[in-house]
Amino acid sequence: MRISALAAMAAALVLAAGCQPQGGSTTAAQVNAERLTAAETDGANWMNYGRTYSEQRHSPLDQVNLETVSQLGLAWYHEFETDRGHQATPVVVDGTLYTTTSWSMVHAFDAATGALKWSYDPKVPGETAHKACCDVVNRGVAVWEGKVFVGTLDGRLVALDADTGAELWSVVTVDQSKPYTITGAPRVVKGKVLIGNGGAELGVRGYLSAYDAGSGELAWRFYTTPNPEGRADNAASDAVLAELAGPTWSDGTWKQSGGGGTVWDAMAYDPELDMLYFGVGNGNPWNHQQRSGGEGDNLFISSIVAVDPDTGDYKWHYQTTPGDTWDFTATQHLMLAELPIEGVTRKVIMQLPKNGFFYVLDRETGKLLSANPVYPMAPEAATPPGMPVAWASGVDLATGRPVENPSARYKAAPALLFPGPFGVHNWHPMAWSAAEKLVYIPTMLVPSAYGNDPTGEPFNPGAWNTGTGMALGALPDDEAQRQGLRAMLRGQLVAWDPVAGKARWSVDRAFPWNGGILATAGGLVFQGTAEGQFQAFNAATGEKVWEYQTQNGIVAAPMTYQVGNDQYVAVMVGYGGAIIAAPIAAPDRPVSLKGRLMVFKIGGTATATAYDLPEPLPIDLAGVTTTGDPAAGFGVYMRHCQVCHGASAVGGLLPDLRRSPITRDAASWRSVVWDGAAASRGMVSFKQWITEADVENARAYVIQEARRQAAVDAAKP
Ligand code: CA
Repeated sequence: MRISALAAMAAALVLAAGCQPQGGSTTAAQVNAERLTAAETDGANWMNYGRTYSEQRHSPLDQVNLETVSQLGLAWYHEFETDRGHQATPVVVDGTLYTTTSWSMVHAFDAATGALKWSYDPKVPGETAHKACCDVVNRGVAVWEGKVFVGTLDGRLVALDADTGAELWSVVTVDQSKPYTITGAPRVVKGKVLIGNGGAELGVRGYLSAYDAGSGELAWRFYTTPNPEGRADNAASDAVLAELAGPTWSDGTWKQSGGGGTVWDAMAYDPELDMLYFGVGNGNPWNHQQRSGGEGDNLFISSIVAVDPDTGDYKWHYQTTPGDTWDFTATQHLMLAELPIEGVTRKVIMQLPKNGFFYVLDRETGKLLSANPVYPMAPEAATPPGMPVAWASGVDLATGRPVENPSARYKAAPALLFPGPFGVHNWHPMAWSAAEKLVYIPTMLVPSAYGNDPTGEPFNPGAWNTGTGMALGALPDDEAQRQGLRAMLRGQLVAWDPVAGKARWSVDRAFPWNGGILATAGGLVFQGTAEGQFQAFNAATGEKVWEYQTQNGIVAAPMTYQVGNDQYVAVMVGYGGAIIAAPIAAPDRPVSLKGRLMVFKIGGTATATAYDLPEPLPIDLAGVTTTGDPAAGFGVYMRHCQVCHGASAVGGLLPDLRRSPITRDAASWRSVVWDGAAASRGMVSFKQWITEADVENARAYVIQEARRQAAVDAAKP
């Protein structure tokens, strides 16, 4: 009796403990500070988005190496239900792989067999998709003491039981009435879950938040732009915003929009210095003239910021693009390393932001050590007429400021600039080779036209608000010119020497917007391509040593881990992201293929089912009429529609409207655009942003573009 009472009491205690938010019942994903700090030498596990706190994405595993890579074969794969973009880097802890897919879903697999352990669907409302600038993607999870953390597209941070996928806690991290989204992976530092957000194209005020991993309670928040109402936020950023950032802003639209500066991707942590680093995005609107009257640097947009991870207290910052007016975010991958610079080993932080300069900073002080262009950046006077002008010709090391080319700010006239909003480097992760002392970078060359918005439309809450002439992004009417423009665009895999400040080798890619990178102690560099090849290169020379045809394009970064005696290499397959890029990047590539997680090992013999490649729907305009004005519809389309459906209606990852049956019928079109018939799939009603006449005008423009394409199709042999 006595014994059974004790047993009952013990069982009750266990149950009680299991109910607490601290959740002592889990056995999986027991990641803690010690394991993460020692992760550099723990090749079996990949416990953080960028593998370790230094975010080097370099694995010490070497079973797959230059000699054995030819025997690398598919071990297993899993096909997901969604055909939207796949950007996640899986995390692996003690033989379980955690990854995310579109709509912020989380999946856990047996990392050796591919058996699905659990899936979690946060049930993001479909209409949230309208707030997402760049597809409904997610880049991954964080793990800590038995919990898996995911940021959801609608702005929640959710903690899951790593064993079961059951929701332990969920907090709303944003004002959901505003166009905030989360696509980035959380990180965990010293028991705090760090999460930012996106939305700086539409109009939000950016910040980074830290939540207690056990309870989900907010620990601190750091805002990256001053409070537009001029008051304190009672946040970690109050003092530095008042002293340093506030004076760098002038009167402008930022007071309505919040100024942008979203923290939507990169973070890194140095346990020795106990400093947390994060990258800050572009301002809102993009156009500095509108945002801040053309005055001031607008801190902390387009900056790298260092803070105390316990309190969020400001340590230092470096602004890569002062007074940004081009969407030159500094949210790109932040990587820590020790580099020999002028005979001294320096603790550095490195970044290639969109603006095209590779920055090396002392990460203790934020002092700029070097900034070199990854592609030649000539002074304006040296640029041949008609060619894109580099936005800046260099960076002044004494002041840390760019040397801008005179026409780049497009104040008086539109300018064709290099780079554009896609950047020389976007979110796609880089990787570091300790042996070669090289940073491997997925880069691209995509010039863009910038200009003031000729419509002078005021700030439009909840809609795209760049303050630039978005219509300048239209493709030329002439098909030969279109093909010529596409031929100018390309991607590269660049092996960058950060000490010498130049490339050692590079591999050309047919299209921009390719996959992130993995480097390993096996002397290998892995990357997937827009066209659907997964490839390995000799890290020292750039020689291609292995290739696998995935059919479906890759934008995510590969990762590697070990279970038992086998090293595995995994990659999420599925094209997507800033989907306007899709038709430019790969116009003839079939889109809307279901995403896959593909996992390889030496001697792997699994085979993947070939995709059933859909033929594009024919353009059928027989009997189609419209009362709309295509010229008026052009402006409406380029401001509101192109970001998802493609510049000049050529299609993105979403339906090609030229081929859609809905375009053929005015009533169907209206039911979607005006009445919101497809809101649950993300196509909300545009009633609040456009006029009733705009609805049919936009359709008239799409019909005009459909007729143009039908003629091109008919002329093909
Ligand atoms: Ca942006």
